[in-house]
This record gives sequence, structure tokens and C-alpha cells, in this order.
Amino acid sequence: MKIKQIEAIPLVRELKEVFQGGTYKITSRNTIVTRVELEGGIIGETFGGDEDQYHMEVCRLVNEHYRPLLVGQDVRDIERLWDQMWNVRVDFGNRGIHTLDLAKHCIHTQAIAAADIALWDALGKALGQPVYKLLGGFRDRVPVIAIGGYMNKGTTLDDLEEEVMHYLEQGVAGMKLKVGKRSVEEDIQRAGRVRHVAGDAFHLCVDANQSWTIEQAMAFARGAADLDLAWLEEPVRWHDQIEGNARVRALGIPVNVGQGEISRHGCRDLITRGAVDILNVDATIAAGVTEWRRIAAMAACFGVKMAHHEEPQVALHLLAGVSNGLCVEFFPNRQRDPMWFDLPQEPPTIESGQMVLNDQPGFGMPLSADTIEKWRAPL
Ligand SMILES: [Mg+2]
Repeated sequence: MKIKQIEAIPLVRELKEVFQGGTYKITSRNTIVTRVELEGGIIGETFGGDEDQYHMEVCRLVNEHYRPLLVGQDVRDIERLWDQMWNVRVDFGNRGIHTLDLAKHCIHTQAIAAADIALWDALGKALGQPVYKLLGGFRDRVPVIAIGGYMNKGTTLDDLEEEVMHYLEQGVAGMKLKVGKRSVEEDIQRAGRVRHVAGDAFHLCVDANQSWTIEQAMAFARGAADLDLAWLEEPVRWHDQIEGNARVRALGIPVNVGQGEISRHGCRDLITRGAVDILNVDATIAAGVTEWRRIAAMAACFGVKMAHHEEPQVALHLLAGVSNGLCVEFFPNRQRDPMWFDLPQEPPTIESGQMVLNDQPGFGMPLSADTIEKWRAPL
């Protein structure tokens, strides 16, 4: 079970449309394929991440710094391998406390994630077990919601209604509606229209991507109090995550944050200071499966649930493996996430609003070699 080789491969793909959220626009769909080869020929191969600016640095960190550390080691010792990667000190040209430190730390945690997730795939294949079984096997299917409601220029309430009808036809359990780009009043109206069209059983949540002041977030929470929202995601701005979220969640709608955290330490502070009901920590950003499962265990001690930001190919197994997992999310719109449709040889099936896991070892998702080669970017 010794690791023979590991390689991170950057994929870069421009999108045909621009997608507009509360605080950002998406113009490309990048991801990283990581391939781990074990002695004996087992190949772990996964994809993850949607990084733009630091994409290449993340890959280089895996290939130049983690590869020499991992080759020759036993893949079953994954906790120790993670610890060694965590303790790598790379000179990013800063002095530890100065400008853009957070970005440098994110490069580090994303690189650990790229390696760790592929190691889990290889480990599962070596043991002949799916990752979700190795994590605890709490369920074999997970409710699935669509991410949508982007506020591209000129979109109307009727456009939104049409989009929701499309999701209902696809048989998903619910939807995450993007908010925060237009006025709070308009967003309450938009959420109201979705609830009206989709019915009471539809899992409706909203995501402001940190675009509101505390006052705006509280105004939304009051105005949407009757809409039975499953959660309010990243309601307040980046600098107010603890105090701001604590005030918003006191109004009754569960608050979901965590996709901006890159370690269990940040999640600990959100939990212990009463700022969160649901953590949507992204294992492809926050140091992989090994760190995510620690966070999930800690969250369970405090009655906090786990979601996951995007990345269904990994999230499905994580959320199925633990007792406090909620639902997996994906982009049913091929224009928004063409990699989801093209990279897996066979994406998971959706039945009665749930994404279904298979019995194949690892993440159970062989990737298309043609797609990897087509979008591979030079390092
Ligand atoms: Mg979000």
C-alpha cells in the first residue's frame, strides 16, 4: 500500500456565460485532478476545487513539496500523512503576519486537500471499500439540492419561476437561491416566489455570499420569516462572521456558514461563540477529507449540522458517512458546471430527490481521460 507517485493536474475551462452572485462573478470553471499511484498499480484519481487566482500555485505545492514527502509512505497512515503536509513550511514570500497571509494559507490548505482527497480514493480502492463506508456509512443516499437563482443582468421573477420549474422536473429535493445582489425587498420577493411555485415540501435555502450588513441580513430574516427557509447562508460580510451571524441566527432562520473557513480552528470559534447552525465547510478548500471529518465530529458535539459547499463528487461521501450530514448540492445547469457533466465517466443517479451512492471503492467515480487531456493547462 505504498505510495509510488502523486501528481496534481490543473484544468482550466472558460465558461460561455458569466454567472453573477451576491459578491462575485464566475467566468471559468477550473479544477484540479489529483492522481495517486500505489505500488502494485492501484490508482486513486479525484477532482476538486474551483480556484481561479492561485490554481497553479496549489498544483505546484502538491507536485514540488508534498510529492517527495508522500512517495514511499503507506497510504493507510493517512492521519500522519496529513499532519506532515500540514506542517510543511513553504516560503511564500511573506513574513507570517503581513499582507495577504490568508491567501497564502488557502494555497496551503487547498494543496493538502487535493492530495488528501486523492489519498482517500486510493485508500478506498486498496481496501476495496467506498469512502463513505470508511467514514461510517451512515446512509447510502443523500438529499440533493440545485444551486441557482443567479442574478444575471435583466433576469426577472418569471425567469426565476421557469428555472424552478426546471429543477422540479429534474426531481431534486430543493434549491439554494442566490441573493444579495439586488435589494433586500426584492430578494424576499424572489424567495417568496420560489416557495409559492415549488410548494411547502421543497428544501429552499438562500445564499447571500457575505454581501449584507448585519442590519440588511436581519431585515431579510424578518421579511422571510414565514417562508420556512432551511437556512440562510453567509448572510453577513467577511469581517462580521462571529458577532454578525450570532445576531442573525437569533431571529430564527438557521445560519449556514463555513465555506470561508480553511481549518477546524476557525470552525471551532464559529461553534463555540454561537455563530452557526450548519457548517458548509468545503473539503476541497479546507484541507481535505481528514480535516472535514474532524470538523464534523466536533460539530456533532454541539448539535451543529454539516453541509458542504459544492463539489458533490466529494461531498456525497462525506455527508453520507456522518450522522450530522444534511444535503448535497450541485449545479444542474451544464453551462455553470460543465466539469460535473464531463469529468465523471458516470455521474451519480438522482432518485426521489436523493443522490445515490454506489458500491464501487474509493469515491466510486472513475474520471474521463479525454476530458482531463482536453482541459489540462500547462504548469
Ligand atoms: Mg455559499
